[in-house]
Amino acid sequence: MFSSNPTRPAPLPQLHGPSGLQPLIAAPVHPYAEFLGKVAKPGRYIGGEEQQRVKSPEGLACRFVLAFPDLYEVGMSHLDTRILYDLINNHADLACERAFSPWIDLEAELRARGLPLVSLESFTPLREFDVVGVSLQYELCYTNVLQNLDLGGIPLRSCDRGEADPIVIAGGPTATHPEPLTPFVDICLVGEAEEVLPGLLRTIGLMRRAGAARAEILAAASQVPGVYVPAFYYVERDERSELLVVAGRTPAGIAANAPERVTRVWVRNLDDFPFPTTFPVPYAEAIFDRAAVEITRGCTEGCRFCQAGIIYRPVRERDPKAILKAVLDGVDAAGFAETSLTALSTADVSCIDPLIKELVPELKRRKVKLGVASLRAYGLNDSLLDEIKSVGINGLTFAPEAGTQRMRDVINKNVSDEDILGSARRIFERGYERIKMYFIMGLPTETEADVIGIAETGRRVREVARELGMPRMPSVTVSVSQHVPKPHTPFQWAAMEGLQDLYGKVKMLRELAKRYRLELKTHNQQESWLECLFARGDRDMAEVLENAYKAGARFEGWRECFSFERWLKALADAGVDPNRYTRTLPLDGRLPWDHIDIGLEPGFLAEEYRKALKSRVSPPCGKPFGAKVHATNTVDAEADARRLVCYDCGIACDMSDMREERLVALRGLGELKGQRHGRERLETEAAEAAGPGATISADSLRERSRLRGRLNPSQHADDSAFKAAAESPFCRVRLFFSKSGPMCFMGHLDLLRVIPRMLRRAGVETAFSRGFTPVPRMSFGPALALGVAAREEVAELDLLLPGAAEDMAGLWSEERRAAEATALHERLAAVAPPGLAIVAVRVVAPGERRIGELIAGADYSVAIGSEQASALATELPARMAGPLPIERAPKANKRGLRRVTDGEHEVIDVRPRIVAAEVDVAAGILRFRLDMTQEPGADGSAKGVRPREVVQALCGAPVADHRVCRDQLLARVDGAYVGLRELVPVFNAMGERWRRDDVEMPAAEVVDGV
Ligand code: SF4
Repeated sequence: MFSSNPTRPAPLPQLHGPSGLQPLIAAPVHPYAEFLGKVAKPGRYIGGEEQQRVKSPEGLACRFVLAFPDLYEVGMSHLDTRILYDLINNHADLACERAFSPWIDLEAELRARGLPLVSLESFTPLREFDVVGVSLQYELCYTNVLQNLDLGGIPLRSCDRGEADPIVIAGGPTATHPEPLTPFVDICLVGEAEEVLPGLLRTIGLMRRAGAARAEILAAASQVPGVYVPAFYYVERDERSELLVVAGRTPAGIAANAPERVTRVWVRNLDDFPFPTTFPVPYAEAIFDRAAVEITRGCTEGCRFCQAGIIYRPVRERDPKAILKAVLDGVDAAGFAETSLTALSTADVSCIDPLIKELVPELKRRKVKLGVASLRAYGLNDSLLDEIKSVGINGLTFAPEAGTQRMRDVINKNVSDEDILGSARRIFERGYERIKMYFIMGLPTETEADVIGIAETGRRVREVARELGMPRMPSVTVSVSQHVPKPHTPFQWAAMEGLQDLYGKVKMLRELAKRYRLELKTHNQQESWLECLFARGDRDMAEVLENAYKAGARFEGWRECFSFERWLKALADAGVDPNRYTRTLPLDGRLPWDHIDIGLEPGFLAEEYRKALKSRVSPPCGKPFGAKVHATNTVDAEADARRLVCYDCGIACDMSDMREERLVALRGLGELKGQRHGRERLETEAAEAAGPGATISADSLRERSRLRGRLNPSQHADDSAFKAAAESPFCRVRLFFSKSGPMCFMGHLDLLRVIPRMLRRAGVETAFSRGFTPVPRMSFGPALALGVAAREEVAELDLLLPGAAEDMAGLWSEERRAAEATALHERLAAVAPPGLAIVAVRVVAPGERRIGELIAGADYSVAIGSEQASALATELPARMAGPLPIERAPKANKRGLRRVTDGEHEVIDVRPRIVAAEVDVAAGILRFRLDMTQEPGADGSAKGVRPREVVQALCGAPVADHRVCRDQLLARVDGAYVGLRELVPVFNAMGERWRRDDVEMPAAEVVDGV
């Protein structure tokens, strides 16, 4: 049986003193706290994540905010965000904060209250920064650029900004063709930021502090390589292309000595800028919730539709040893469950094969999955596929791009049917359950046969699975987008296919996919059409953009927000003909991006375009002629005497250096074999430094690194890491923790990511569920509403502690359990994220009841202020004496729209569920105890009353959730409520086994505590 701890009897009804409670709930923790609970996914807006970097503004040369023009979960997934955040914050005199576009619901709340968009780190309005950075990842984000500026309190047009307004800098891939956006930004940074951005920010910040005029600052900025100040250039209409093109410098531009053409900047040696390993760990789920690491920049393949393949030339590979370190340090620091290697074409990275082989054993040991992006249908050898599969990846994606060999030759895609089908066979033979293939339709010279070829490729891949007689048919997904001709590519002159033709092709693909049992995903054709308008657009498109924004255009890449009609109207209002941008452009016409020098020889792109129209291929540059993949070992690499292919595109690669660098990388990986990496190496170093028999305290853990866990790695991870972890002996651990500050806005699902990450950081292994998608085994107490603080939450975790088999056999004493719990408490406390504090840890005995069976009630406190408390103290006895009816609105339906018909509201009496209530007038706090059992009340009253409803019923009006705190969860023992943490198990009469029925489940009774 259980008893309550005699030294800490459960207080009733005096539940808590106010002293420890008030900081949790007394004041708003966020400028939007009053309404964050009303909007979708408030975790997007709260900041305060683990590894966030906050700097005091004093003494800084420049305060920079990176205002990402999309949602938090999108922006946090971008490598550029991670790189810039780390790059700038690594300079002591510079600060980089983050802001993301608010979703429609939050924007409405901000506008209704006249509140500005603020940064996540310091909640500073955007208008108060020295520089606002705009990351331009693709053209459909442009309306969100305007949204961020507008909500941030910054005039939309550069010409309307005053001396106090920030300088707005745009960077990213589409800054290489920025004309539609130029009236709204002050500076475009063309190319890679690493070498020039810190200096540029320092120049701007220091000049602002010295009182320099805006014009002077822009003039100074224009001298920085890669900087384009649009106001220093004028445009005229070109007779051939009929587009507005930059024709020269304005008098101010000449006076500032701005360059006539702006040359892209790029980093010669990526290893001069190691990939960041610490970055704010998203609370709200990011699109890619993992420790992604950039392994190369640029691409050897020369696909003719691909802008990234041109504007990131030449290909530059990171040192594989540095990649290994970045991956493992990033995983260990954040506790991510997945990592990925990111490149434009991973299969074409020279050391990818040995790198993955070196990396996978480390990841298996940590139960971390490895995603490999941008695979090709070649280079997937058997052992590589085995390695990827062993870390829990069940599906692979690659991009044939076109469905026929003729079309692949036109686009210069170096992939054959044999590659595709051979890879599919090897993938299915290894038990992978999903293949996804990306294709593009609407490419230049495309015929109906090419479109049919897309579906046929999918059919043949499915046929491979059928021939193999797989027990369960794998899913084959064909994802088809439409070609958007992009500036700085060989196809920049090609027409975008008409919408009616594209609709017809999609219809045909749908019919074929149905016939061949393929999953077909398509991309919205109208969105691609708009993307083309902005990609090849000129300054005329700026007015269209502003019109559409003012008419409500936001999040154009989100299907639920896009309105084709709104754009047609915006075009008509501005008098702009969209066909100007979608038709074939003349090769001898001037273009709106001609003043941006990417570094290519004149004529290179046109020559590639001509070759495309003749279906002539250009084999990959930077590889030995005829080679599809690089040598995977030094012997083969040294023996290969073939010249590396080069087309003298203008980038001027040094081919000898390129060959030598790859050899050095392969040799470096060879030296690593058998070495220990990451946490294992840190543990060894720490143990050696501590001396024999020494232990490492939580304090020293904090000092040295929060990552140096002390538990041995699992011995069960040799084959399938997750399978072994599902079957290993485990200890059940009850974890009590508090939530305060931003953590209060973490939803229940968010906690399912936060807690496992914390365990990984502590080096504590969890047991995993069995099945297709293994997840850490854990259960939580009842979910809290977003915004509600908690002094004592509870979770039960199955952990693979050393000696767990003995525990499961009932051989551990209570003292042993207590000692394990204390050690675990120290380790977890050292790595707990901000706002989550470990209150207590208990290793529960085999056979004890689960928390779901134990929890019978909870105590709450509500900060209502002394004035309301004073009034409520008088009214509360009368309220508690009778029924407390409350009207409950119907649940939101799937689309988030509330049905508000009066007849559908339910009236319930919450009184039977309130065990006790009292008011502390001096502290301004209402406290109450809630019966949380699921049985209906004695009078048939409703079960599952929500704390928010009780608060409203007791106070007579709604109270914001962030003013509420759950103090403790309760069980029932001998008819009395007992704090869950106070439950102390005792041996039964035999002194050897735990009984499961020692805790009394409460009857449906009502206890008046006032
Ligand atoms: S210079 Fe040669 S190897 Fe370098 S990117 Fe251009 S074509 Fe490729």
